[in-house]
Amino acid sequence: MGTPVLYLFRSSELFVTQYNTLPIDYPDIGEESLLDSMDIDIAGVPSRILLFKDEASRAAVVSASVCGPPASSDSCGGESSGKWIRLRSIFASDDPLLASLASPAARALGLINWHNSCRFCARCGTAVIDKPGEIARVCPVCSAIYYPRISPAIIVLVHKGDTVLLARHAARNQEVYSCIAGFLEHGETLEECVAREVFEETGISVTDICYAGSQSWPYPDQHMIAFHARWASGEVTVDPKEILEARWFPRDAMPATPMPGTVAWRLIFGDWGDDFR
Ligand SMILES: [Zn+2]
Repeated sequence: MGTPVLYLFRSSELFVTQYNTLPIDYPDIGEESLLDSMDIDIAGVPSRILLFKDEASRAAVVSASVCGPPASSDSCGGESSGKWIRLRSIFASDDPLLASLASPAARALGLINWHNSCRFCARCGTAVIDKPGEIARVCPVCSAIYYPRISPAIIVLVHKGDTVLLARHAARNQEVYSCIAGFLEHGETLEECVAREVFEETGISVTDICYAGSQSWPYPDQHMIAFHARWASGEVTVDPKEILEARWFPRDAMPATPMPGTVAWRLIFGDWGDDFR
């Protein structure tokens, strides 16, 4: 087995070298800064994922010894510099090297978030251990098995004529207007989830619900499934526990919206398709 590449996470930031590649070494910054680690193949490459505490020293990791640029990959081991970068910046990046990290980094962060939170058996309370040969954890007492958790959630852009419905959410950045979103519940289809969430949060009934793509969103374990939908009936009446304000905006006069790299940004500013243009 070759030297593993390192996925170093601090909060939701990934450390990349100055060449926008993954490092292969890092200095000892103290056991007390390390929350969890996993050794695993990601995209067929032996990898080690390390999750540091939020307050872990940036300076220590930034001084990591890293691999040289792709053109001189035999120059590994030299001291180099790098940077912490938010995963959503990687999702939005035009740099081909960074963009190629989007999927494996999302997988790495989702897995280490799960591994770090799945510590005890939900059935009997015993500390769980890694299950050999599988990405799973197992209880040594009652044999209950725990697989990585993924929480599906819908996000929807509702259209009415030439306008779209955007809302300021109580639990998120309150300065930003975004799409309606919510978690899938047991027993419902994704389309039923879209209709329920829009109605619960804004009092609007929708029709023509169309799939518009999906994206891993490992904060800590979501998978966002995106839709367009059309207003069918109702006036905007927000649920104040979830929504501060919801309004219809024309496409040429959008308010402050989520950043590039988010699913909401792609829905709002991406191609709406013939049905919603
Ligand atoms: Zn158990």
